Amino acid sequence: MNNFLITPIEYLKGVGPQKAEVLKKELGIFTYKDLLEYFPFRYVDRSQFHTVADLVKLQGHAQIKGRIIGFQEAGVGRNKRLTAKFQDTTGMIDLVWFKGASWIKSSLKINEEILIYGKPTQFKGRWNIPHPEIASINAAESVGLQPVYSSTERLNSVGLNTKGIEKLIRSLIENIGGQIEDVLPVQLKIEHRLIDRELAMIWVHDPSTEMEVQQARFRLKFEELFFLQMELLVRKQITMEKSKGYLMENVGDAFNDFYKKHIPFELTNAQKRVLKEIRIDMNTGHHMNRLLQGDVGSGKTLVALLSMLIAVGNDFQAALIAPTEILAIQHYESIRELLDPMGIEVALLTGSVKKKDRKPLHEQLLNGKIKILIGTHALLEETVQFSNLGLVVIDEQHRFGVAQRARMWKKNELPPHVLIMTATPIPRTLAMTFYGDLEVSVIDELPPGRKPITTSHRYDESRLRVFGFMREEIKKGRQIYIVYPLIMESETLDFNNLMDGFEAISRSFPKPHYQISMVHGKLKPEDKEFEMNRFIKGETQIMVATTVIEVGVNVPNASVMVIESAERFGLSQLHQLRGRVGRGAEQSFCILMTGDKISEDSKKRMETMVRTNDGFEIAEVDLQLRGPGDLLGTQQSGLLDLKISNLSKDAQIVAMAREVAKQVLTNDPTIELPENKGIRSRLSDLLRSRPNWGRIA
Ligand code: ADP
Ligand code: MG
Repeated sequence: MNNFLITPIEYLKGVGPQKAEVLKKELGIFTYKDLLEYFPFRYVDRSQFHTVADLVKLQGHAQIKGRIIGFQEAGVGRNKRLTAKFQDTTGMIDLVWFKGASWIKSSLKINEEILIYGKPTQFKGRWNIPHPEIASINAAESVGLQPVYSSTERLNSVGLNTKGIEKLIRSLIENIGGQIEDVLPVQLKIEHRLIDRELAMIWVHDPSTEMEVQQARFRLKFEELFFLQMELLVRKQITMEKSKGYLMENVGDAFNDFYKKHIPFELTNAQKRVLKEIRIDMNTGHHMNRLLQGDVGSGKTLVALLSMLIAVGNDFQAALIAPTEILAIQHYESIRELLDPMGIEVALLTGSVKKKDRKPLHEQLLNGKIKILIGTHALLEETVQFSNLGLVVIDEQHRFGVAQRARMWKKNELPPHVLIMTATPIPRTLAMTFYGDLEVSVIDELPPGRKPITTSHRYDESRLRVFGFMREEIKKGRQIYIVYPLIMESETLDFNNLMDGFEAISRSFPKPHYQISMVHGKLKPEDKEFEMNRFIKGETQIMVATTVIEVGVNVPNASVMVIESAERFGLSQLHQLRGRVGRGAEQSFCILMTGDKISEDSKKRMETMVRTNDGFEIAEVDLQLRGPGDLLGTQQSGLLDLKISNLSKDAQIVAMAREVAKQVLTNDPTIELPENKGIRSRLSDLLRSRPNWGRIA
């Protein structure tokens, strides 16, 4: 990096020690480069004005020229607010602040002409603009687009409101001439219509047209995402080189035998494609680290089984880990049934396997008699040792921590191959970005003959009709889930909520005509099991539950899923819950119950659920509603330190950046060509500054 950019911020004209201190503390700005990369979050076209009279028909933000004619303070404590009467030639409107009253009052003069900018809202029939931006009237005379920077109260207090920041950046830009080297090769810029870095920096802070803003932002976003992808790809290369894995050269007899004689259905094309990807991975001599995504019911288990048979056919053992005991038992029973005729030994290990039964199990794992072990995290215990473990399949990835998974790696001399199966789709942009060193396979097709689940949204007031519908379904011999949310506030409240629901249901569906199961987090595991089993066996028609049933249980006869207070669930959870039904031949239904006043976001979630059964589409909406941080959890959120791009909005640029990064690496795998010098130096900075991210298994 050249010297200009790393100049300490104190040296900039107009900064001085006090401002420098605040810039460092509030924004992490230490150098010229940091300041240049503090991008405007918005631009205002100062030539566009509205009047107070316009507001009635206006949607969105408004810019009005006028003056404050008086202040009023009202409310106490948390409800304290400051109101200013703002007037232009057409009328009057309230400006309202819920914070920072005294500072605002002292900084705004009565009767001085100002510009305000904000989003008008109506409250009790009166228009007001909460927390408007304020600019002096001179701003209106500046030509072109004016950048708006976010500021804080502390920055404000040293004169660094958006205007102050703009001024600093301008004085920096004036001296920039030719000092910002480009990191991207000329050819690449021409091919992808990217402007020079320096020009982009100038235009992003000081554009004269909308076009300049677009071009500058495109260039800067591309650069940011391109280096993110480069970093991921290079890290992946490094891991690949390091990670020796077991070579499984043959498909093997176990696989072939099963495939020819015992497979219960023809594989879907998606299942075939994914299996091929897995087979190739297991035959490279490198360690496989693959994520298998597939919607609920897409047939991941069969893919897991066939992959395990490849391992077995190559004289390795395989293990399948499920998140709950019930699921482990279900997997065990269905897999054993399929493999019994072939004489392949399958065993089950969960927390409730008795000590005296464990000893022979441990022995048979060590002497290699057991080929496939299915179980819960009990499998991870150190006492569980294999003779030659070659593949670990993990069902429903999100229930396992990274550290837990790492323990599986130590069960053989080289780490066994890992296949992680999840029904929670990860939007493509995120998968590309955050699981960059993980291969991703997708089953994007359901087995034939499935009837799509019909989803509807009902308000609480139609409860009686919903109950009527449930009775009809039960009369037809079907079973029903009713799920209650966890309401974070307190466990006791959640429990009461569930109990109230249970009572209401019991009244409407009385014994002996109806039998009801109930499971929740407070039950002992054996009681939970007992209740689940009554439902699985069909002894009860209704299962009242909290989200403990979320994962994997398979009751093909259950055809109705009622989700209570559905507005409290996130989209991916709703989709998971819905996936509990639609597993049999019957038409299935999902009914989302909500209160009649729900937020816009909740409405959007309900609409999305009603509109589509496609998990990937749902994941995309989820990403847009919640942003990537929430989807990924805190573990990876540090990576979201993106300065200008937005993973949910810039999906296209992410995809493009990934492609270009791949091309660059194909042409120049070691990044040594002279034209890639800029890329090389930026990349080595990045690799040095964040040594351990990107691994999930
Ligand atoms: P998930 O991906 O949710 O784990 P499962 O593996 O439990 O899905 O499969 C759901 C159901 O579909 C199971 O009853 C399974 O036997 C069935 N199934 C899987 N593959 C096929 C196929 N190719 N054709 C028909 N049914 C299939
Ligand atoms: Mg499954």
